Amino acid sequence: MSKHVVILGGGLAGLSCGYELVTRGHRVTILEREPHVGGMASSFIEDGDEYWTHDFGPHRFHSQDSNLIDHVREIIGEDNIVTAQRLSRIVLFNKFFDYPLVASNVLRSMPKHLLIKAMLDYMWVRFLDTTRLKRYSDKDFESWVTKRFGKTLYRIFFGQYTEKAWGMPPSQISADWASQRITLLNLWDTVKKTLFRPKAGETPRTLVTSFIYPKYGGIGELPRGYARKIEEISPESRVLVNSPAIRVLRDGNTVTGIEYGKHKRQTIEGDEYVNTIPITALAKAAAPSAPDHVLESCRALQYISIVFVYLKLDREQVSPDSWVYLPEMKLTVHRICEFKNFSKFSAPEGKTMICAEITCRRGDDIWRASQEELQKIAEKDLQSVGLIGENEVLSSSIRRIPFAYPVYDLQYADHLKPIQEFVGTLENLHTTGRQGNFRYNNMDQSVEMGRKMGIELATGEETGHAAVATGEEYFG
Ligand SMILES: Cc1cc2nc3c(=O)[nH]c(=O)nc-3n(C[C@H](O)[C@H](O)[C@H](O)COP(=O)(O)OP(=O)(O)OC[C@H]3O[C@@H](n4cnc5c(N)ncnc54)[C@H](O)[C@@H]3O)c2cc1C
Repeated sequence: MSKHVVILGGGLAGLSCGYELVTRGHRVTILEREPHVGGMASSFIEDGDEYWTHDFGPHRFHSQDSNLIDHVREIIGEDNIVTAQRLSRIVLFNKFFDYPLVASNVLRSMPKHLLIKAMLDYMWVRFLDTTRLKRYSDKDFESWVTKRFGKTLYRIFFGQYTEKAWGMPPSQISADWASQRITLLNLWDTVKKTLFRPKAGETPRTLVTSFIYPKYGGIGELPRGYARKIEEISPESRVLVNSPAIRVLRDGNTVTGIEYGKHKRQTIEGDEYVNTIPITALAKAAAPSAPDHVLESCRALQYISIVFVYLKLDREQVSPDSWVYLPEMKLTVHRICEFKNFSKFSAPEGKTMICAEITCRRGDDIWRASQEELQKIAEKDLQSVGLIGENEVLSSSIRRIPFAYPVYDLQYADHLKPIQEFVGTLENLHTTGRQGNFRYNNMDQSVEMGRKMGIELATGEETGHAAVATGEEYFG
């Protein structure tokens, strides 16, 4: 029997879930807060005198699963795909280091005294740990990394970048994050894999050199493709933008409807509900409200926000890199990317656009800074590392995302548990995706979670959607 499933959130998880449901004969209504679909994988197109596209920072789609890649190609449309070459570097000591690290480049570019100190430190920490003369805790990020890499490498490659990106001391960050292997953490493995090539099929994300990307329209062509197909396959289904979910109406443990809308409120009812919006926002929207201890946990769980500063420049290319990390504390920007290196069609000939990312917390000075102030910060940082010269910027614009990264502080698991338990009591509501799980995952994993959830709801067969992105995988 055909069901009507109401999906909260029109990012990749919500849309891919909807797609699998409609291809199996069900009807969906997707409620998206923003005026466009895509969530973090959105793109913005300017199609006036000149054609430009930009994303929320660098978005490289990668998966080891060739079926998933074929699926994504089909959703984007085969005639709108280019293959981009991945090149990324880290700027340290005013030098560019290839990333993933190339041993010869590290040996050549790293100050010799630091190299020796790093090696001695590394051997010392390994000695202390193996002989059990010192016990390093695996609880927080700083000890976890120091135990494995030594103090010098920790400080240079991980400590400062992490503190800058997270805006908190790494000793306050849970080692769960370290063990989920953020790209920069992957240093030692990268050195090993550089020296000893991995077997076919084992290439980690960090070593993948090419990836598919839309020729026109940016990464947002993937969510737009899903939205188009959902309404084509199932004309009675709807993807509603500008439609924030405001209240999750419930009768005990059963969700009875979703109140949504910006100005005029409406209520929509479904047979089942899928959540892909931040799990804290979902719990806070419950009516009648969730118990007090759940609401307290929602307040305690934190997110890192990002401000994106886009600079249009009057030259063909700034660097050949897909993205460049700027870990040094003296710089405010922590990463830049250049969309022309994803698709050369994303900016007019002879011009290019750089996106500078600055992490912050909602409401802080960076979050509230004006476009002019943020442009100045980005220009100064890029000039200081020699990427751009003075007066090169044609114009700038900014975008912000509030729920960019879940903060894995030392208490996050304790705060998350009661929220998940409460959401778990809602029998006809299922939560998935990066936001719905408070999980630090990539696009392919959000798509996989969404698709598996859709298939499970449509067929009743278990798909293991909850286990996606919980394994030993490198996140980029
Ligand atoms: C800067 C940056 C760079 C990244 N780079 C990569 C990369 O190179 N490769 C990669 O694979 N992944 C990358 N990612 C991760 C990737 O973007 C995410 O994993 C993926 O897009 C998450 O999709 P989602 O649907 O799970 O969540 P989201 O995209 O967050 O979707 C949730 C949706 O819910 C909507 N919403 C929120 N509240 C409400 C409400 N009340 N009512 C209705 N709708 C609501 C939001 O607007 C959003 O559209 C990057 C992420 C960031 C932040």
